[in-house]
Amino acid sequence: MEKLLEKRVIRDVIHGYVHIEDKIIWDCINTREFQRLRRIRQLGSTAVIFPSGEHSRATHSFGTYEIAKRMINEVDGLKEYLNEREQMVLMLAALLHDIGHASFSHSFEHIIHSNHEEYTQQIITGDSEIYDVLSAVDEDLPKEVASVINHSHPNGVLCQLISSQLDADRLDYLLRDSYFTGVSYGQIDLDRILRTMRISNGKVVIKNTSIYTIENYIMSRYHMYWQVYYHPNSRSYDVLLRQVFTRLRDLFEENRRIADEYPMFKAILEKDMLSNDELFLLDDATVMYGFHLMEMGNDKILSDLARRILNRDLFEYSNKTREAELKQLCLNNGFDPNYYVVVDQQSQIPYKPYSGNSSQCIWMLTDEGIKELSEVSSVVKSLSYIDEQDERVFYPREVDEN
Ligand code: CA
Repeated sequence: MEKLLEKRVIRDVIHGYVHIEDKIIWDCINTREFQRLRRIRQLGSTAVIFPSGEHSRATHSFGTYEIAKRMINEVDGLKEYLNEREQMVLMLAALLHDIGHASFSHSFEHIIHSNHEEYTQQIITGDSEIYDVLSAVDEDLPKEVASVINHSHPNGVLCQLISSQLDADRLDYLLRDSYFTGVSYGQIDLDRILRTMRISNGKVVIKNTSIYTIENYIMSRYHMYWQVYYHPNSRSYDVLLRQVFTRLRDLFEENRRIADEYPMFKAILEKDMLSNDELFLLDDATVMYGFHLMEMGNDKILSDLARRILNRDLFEYSNKTREAELKQLCLNNGFDPNYYVVVDQQSQIPYKPYSGNSSQCIWMLTDEGIKELSEVSSVVKSLSYIDEQDERVFYPREVDEN
């Protein structure tokens, strides 16, 4: 693989520096699809609740790449286990794993009826500058990079390192999101995890001496989900995002010409799957501009929902048992319950034990050989039985006040 004449270093608040030596990595960074990630916040709706969490998906992508690069250099046996091409595929998959995200990623996935992983595949293997960079090296490279991200690469170690329950992606986002939100739960011991990671019997394993480090990592992730990512107010903002598009879609069904008033959302309304160029338009700035247009528009409901998003006038939440009562209260107060009363459910399993796919679990290297994490940690074992469900009903606070 061709090296850069001069190594590039990028400062990063989590890792100190991100080191770039390979021309292909630098070329991928300079594509329009990667540069777009600068215009999308990593945390989407969560940034509205934790206001210092303004970091972009580009910073997380740089960080995931840097962790993958550190894995190659620091994980005992990995450099010997992977050939030069696989090492490059690992770093590329890390850098590009989030390339298919739209603005407000997870809230938007309901709206564009597809998930970011499908768009990631479409961008890497389809019509894009990324495809051009990768296929210039050889024509199989785009598919090979994409196969690591969708867990189908024949070398399970690559899948384990990029998309499993302990991977470069999670290690970076826990550290980064906890730093930028100011929440301490996500603090994990990355150095120790890398130092006690090994390749054994074709698997990524962690030396059992690090069992508490790994337990702490699982707990961190569990707490970050409930305290940060699934914070009820952040879900309230998500609900508004969902409802504004439910209303827009209903208006579109009545009158297709409304799509022309919102050029950034036209493809979402008219098509099931967006092209790469159409997805490219969906960054935080264009989406927010769309909400401004809605607020100024003629439809009272659309305008009100958009105003709430722009001004962070969030819905209140309550126990689901109040659903029927709240619908009636909404009717009494002139709010259409179809748009103003929403039940939302979230669930999170802290750790999924082995169930057929060994590249998804965490493996520990013990004196008695390799064991799956929940076999050696009673803390993780008990957590793996938790399937916490949280169901709430969201509604405008005005109806409680009247
Ligand atoms: Ca990610």
